[in-house]
Amino acid sequence: MNNNTENEPIKVSFVTLGCAKNLVDSEKMLGLLGGAGFMLTGPDTPCDVTIINTCGFIEEARDEAMENIEEVLERKRQGQTKIVIVTGCLAQLWQGELLEKQPEIDAVLGLDRRDKIVGIVNELLSDSGLANNLQVTKGEFRDVANDQGRLRITESCWGYLRISEGCDQKCTFCTIPFIRGNFRSKPMDAVIEEAKELANDGVVELNLIGQETSGYGQDLNDGYGLAELLVELNKIEKLKWIRVLYVHPATLSDKIIEAMAKLEKVVPYIDIPLQHISDNILKLMNRKLTKSQTIELLEKIRKQIPDVTLRTTMLVGFPGETDDDFAQLLEFVKECRFDALSAFMYSFEKETASAKLPGHIDEETQIKRYDAIMTTQQEIAFELADELTDKTIDCMITSALFDDEADELGLDPDYRWVTGRHQGQGPEVDSVCYITVDPDLELTSGDILPIKIIGRLDYDLVGEIA
Ligand code: SF4
Repeated sequence: MNNNTENEPIKVSFVTLGCAKNLVDSEKMLGLLGGAGFMLTGPDTPCDVTIINTCGFIEEARDEAMENIEEVLERKRQGQTKIVIVTGCLAQLWQGELLEKQPEIDAVLGLDRRDKIVGIVNELLSDSGLANNLQVTKGEFRDVANDQGRLRITESCWGYLRISEGCDQKCTFCTIPFIRGNFRSKPMDAVIEEAKELANDGVVELNLIGQETSGYGQDLNDGYGLAELLVELNKIEKLKWIRVLYVHPATLSDKIIEAMAKLEKVVPYIDIPLQHISDNILKLMNRKLTKSQTIELLEKIRKQIPDVTLRTTMLVGFPGETDDDFAQLLEFVKECRFDALSAFMYSFEKETASAKLPGHIDEETQIKRYDAIMTTQQEIAFELADELTDKTIDCMITSALFDDEADELGLDPDYRWVTGRHQGQGPEVDSVCYITVDPDLELTSGDILPIKIIGRLDYDLVGEIA
């Protein structure tokens, strides 16, 4: 047990920002710290050490990270915490610059310091604690992390499985390759070991993540790719649902689509960020596909996986985006009717190739285009949700809904409610299903039940056990 001078367990609090990959890093550090006997506490509890795992890929994310860092440093000034450690993508991207901006930070740790967190915390807590400690490896982050031994902070029945790190696609607007390095796959046996560990830890829904999951195996030279990996994961008995997130249209091969269509546990769900559709912009973004190739690919997916849920991400306001380019994008979104769509406004990132392009779009136009695409998608999402009314679909029960939460949502608090998701609803990014259940019914997180959809609350569905 790691105890402080009053012989009490050393309390560590964690703030996790950013994407699912960052969440896995947080879970790994929590696993290491918990395993070393540190007491893990909630964000508002007085503690000895606070770790902020940051995101840094666009300006908005960096602003959010700096706000969280300032909040925690204010807690340090008030004696609510002693040591403040900043990890994650912003630490990797800004390195010493972050200490210059916030010199009260006790340590800025690069991504390759993740697994050394216990030693670093003990070093900082020891009397000879080093102030203003910058620990970032110069140059590229190259590790292929072993994510086993995590302390998961997701709902118990689902978890993330990172299968690769970094990216080679070099989209001209993206900073991620500058932060997470070149593409590298996690060896197949390590992925399967980790999947088994998660399944034994209660995970029934496995969500595969990486910057570009469809490129899995391209660097392993053993002929194994995502299709072969899915075949192996499909054999893990305790798993019921396997979901693939973050595919790239350029590496989503026929073989992968066939495997997804054929394998029983692989849910008919494809998260395929397309970013845009006009040939002019796709070329400037270095997205490797043309408009006609993209449309052909989506038609192929819908033909081979008829009940597929398609989620995508679009970027509006890219330098040089004309009214016609945007009109093409809006028309495409109307015609394609994605089940779910997230949009981002272009963020000026000085490291990226697009920063040097002419024709940067003013903020007002960016906002107008963002609102237009999200309003269009909202109509589609509501129509698709309404089409599910009176239908019965399998949903996985993920958590209980407390009366005050139900009340806040406008659900009748006199009923018992739980939250669930059907196969077309991915964790954290998509809508959910609120399900009314018999007060005496025994339920476990991860149970899959036939749910009759009786209505919707904006994007979310409302159902009852069929
Ligand atoms: S594929 Fe994704 S992570 Fe890779 S460069 Fe493009 S946007 Fe960035």
